[in-house]
Amino acid sequence: MLENIRIVLVNTSHPGNIGSAARAMKTMGLSQLVLVNPITAPDGKSIALAAGAGDVLANAKTVSTLAEAVADCGLVIGTSARSRTLSWPMLEPRGCGEKMISEVSKYPVALVFGRENNGLSNEELQQCHFHVCIPANPDYSSLNLAAAVQTLCYEVRMAYLNLSRGQYPENHPEDTEYPLSEDLEGFYSHLEQTLIKTNFIIAKHPGMVMAKLRRLYNRSRPETQELNILRGILASVDKIAKERD
Ligand code: SAH
Repeated sequence: MLENIRIVLVNTSHPGNIGSAARAMKTMGLSQLVLVNPITAPDGKSIALAAGAGDVLANAKTVSTLAEAVADCGLVIGTSARSRTLSWPMLEPRGCGEKMISEVSKYPVALVFGRENNGLSNEELQQCHFHVCIPANPDYSSLNLAAAVQTLCYEVRMAYLNLSRGQYPENHPEDTEYPLSEDLEGFYSHLEQTLIKTNFIIAKHPGMVMAKLRRLYNRSRPETQELNILRGILASVDKIAKERD
């Protein structure tokens, strides 16, 4: 079960933090680490700080984009120390752990961490279904990257232990099937292309429309069948647009 939980570190600067994150994960029983384009690849410092979690580090996968890291995930949660321009559905750390554990038996789920200096970009945050914020000291709320990994992995572990002790039922209907991240991304690019065709979006001045539509759909979390209907609607609009050309 815990094998389906992926910790994604985006554009990490300090190799030491990668090692400390690996250690934080292993202490909580997690092993799947994905590095998105690290500034410096894991090195001796990473190995030293990973201590007994060298295996997690050695098995870490490196990819070049966040989209690639989460393509096969059905639930993607982004972390952020502060609120952003466009507010997004939020989870508390406890709720984040519970949500991940309640869905992990169906598909891989991902928890995404940002850069030491400036976190995740808006574009990256908009690839997530939910955001989670550790409610730290409002005057100094930015944790060290590996400390944030530790805190949230602890909540995942607590949720996992509670579930294995039968303390709460899986709180989702068994037959709900959600699309994977790559299918949602396919839908968003289709939607954007269609809206450009109909001139609803002007390619040179796209504004915030796509960001707001992403928020709308990510908040409502269309099921696989619903997403197929939306794709069908777009195809019908494309057909008429083509006939008029
Ligand atoms: N200055 C950055 C903070 C980066 S801290 C910013 O303003 O976004 C590096 C990473 O640690 C963040 O991207 C996030 O993944 C995690 N992190 C740090 N503090 C956090 C908090 N209070 N809640 C959730 N994640 C946090």
